[in-house]
Amino acid sequence: MMSYYEQSAPPPRDSRLKIGDSYAGNARGLVDCGRDGCLLQKGRGFWQTNACQMMLSLMMAVTVENSLIVIHAPGGCGAMLHPLSAQAAKGKGRRGKTPAAPPWLSTNLTEADVIGGGERKLRETIEYADREFRPEIIFVVVTCAPSIIGDDAEEVVRQTRSAVNADVVSLHCPGFGSRVVASAYDAFYHGILRGLELTPKPWVDSRPRPGGGPATELAEKKYQSRKSRTVNVWNATSIGADDEDEVKRLLSALGLSARFFAEYSSRDELRQVSEAALNVSMCNVHDDYILKYLDEKFSAPYVIAGMPIGFRHTRQWLLRVAERFGLEKEAAALADDEEKLARKAIAPFVAQTRGKSVLICGGVVRVGAEATTLAELGFKILGIRAYHYDDGAEPIYADLAENLPDAPVAVSNQLFELTHQIKSLKPDLVISHNGTQGYIAKLGVPAIQLFSPDGAFFGYTGLYRILRRIVFELKNTSYRDRLSQRVRLPYRQSYFEGDAFKYIKN
Ligand code: SF4
Repeated sequence: MMSYYEQSAPPPRDSRLKIGDSYAGNARGLVDCGRDGCLLQKGRGFWQTNACQMMLSLMMAVTVENSLIVIHAPGGCGAMLHPLSAQAAKGKGRRGKTPAAPPWLSTNLTEADVIGGGERKLRETIEYADREFRPEIIFVVVTCAPSIIGDDAEEVVRQTRSAVNADVVSLHCPGFGSRVVASAYDAFYHGILRGLELTPKPWVDSRPRPGGGPATELAEKKYQSRKSRTVNVWNATSIGADDEDEVKRLLSALGLSARFFAEYSSRDELRQVSEAALNVSMCNVHDDYILKYLDEKFSAPYVIAGMPIGFRHTRQWLLRVAERFGLEKEAAALADDEEKLARKAIAPFVAQTRGKSVLICGGVVRVGAEATTLAELGFKILGIRAYHYDDGAEPIYADLAENLPDAPVAVSNQLFELTHQIKSLKPDLVISHNGTQGYIAKLGVPAIQLFSPDGAFFGYTGLYRILRRIVFELKNTSYRDRLSQRVRLPYRQSYFEGDAFKYIKN
């Protein structure tokens, strides 16, 4: 059978994993429902809206150095690149790289192109991009319209590869292609693993020493020794530079050298991917597709161990990485020391937040880890809402079932259900995914972001900063209070009387 990785387009997650986007109950029920397949049957009688996976693929592509993006689409699909470019430029600067946003072009498909096909336009745009901008990588983003009309974008990419200097990488991410927006990560990695070299080139990245001898042997031993302590850590836009710094700090303390891929990497850096002892996930929702590929292709081992959020999850994450190097004792001692310091630092915040009720919403792994972390610090967890669920999240939800068996858990990316929950549960605090802050502010409820590329959320530094942010938010409610008094919500009062998840059906 042809592997996923050999196909021109990646499979949507809906067919690769056991997945669901509609559920209300508790963690145990969710794990069981995921296992026995009932989650697949669930849907809604009413949907407000859903997200476009192309946006998330763009979010990753825009960070890659010396690249250019060609969006094969009608003009509007590129709109999100304006804010994404600014964020990526900032992220590059924060990582010591030139803070420049990549140029981007659209094939600007018109009604006539939709009838007659857009392949010629795509070829001309790729050639123009190469000639005018001389990028190292051209990302060709294949959106809804060309996918619906049946443009063979892959064939155009294959033909232009020999005619242009840049490496041409196709990202097949039509917005309608998956119910689960996280499919976008697979689309990005599928393009990278098929369109770019992930191993060093002799005479470019290294100079082979002809003839052997002691100097060659010594150089080789030094290289192998360095490689045996090198760890690739896989990032994502929700994991900012401060999080990378924290992870690097902890791994360095164990004598390991951490490098971050694939965001904010260049074509040359990506050729070093195969040269590491271990690939480490910071969230399987982002990276399981590429980690499994690297294992299959290069026999490169990987670790998927949730997210390093809070004391318990960070310790587990560190131990799982450390055990691959025989460093379990060192990792346990490091976690002990770090916890001791961090507990002292967070004590004033914990005293002010104990007993506060919280609703947590966003990515499936992060909300699970955040919920148990905050519960351990004395918060009352009113509800956990995951944007989607798949079998990769099972360990986190099994842990939730054990530690917070009574906490309500929902799988929902629907804003009307979030609004209903906030209105009916009346939490002291909402921790929510980026993009929802405005809606929550209108309800007058204190809220902080679940993540931000501009902040720290991982490890011990992250925990300190999360709690500091919560305390600040709980004390500074004026803006939200005044906004909520002046804004009219688009809901009838009667809507809030029923069950928040009444539209979910089996
Ligand atoms: S859903 Fe399709 S048409 Fe809409 S922005 Fe995304 S790719 Fe473009």
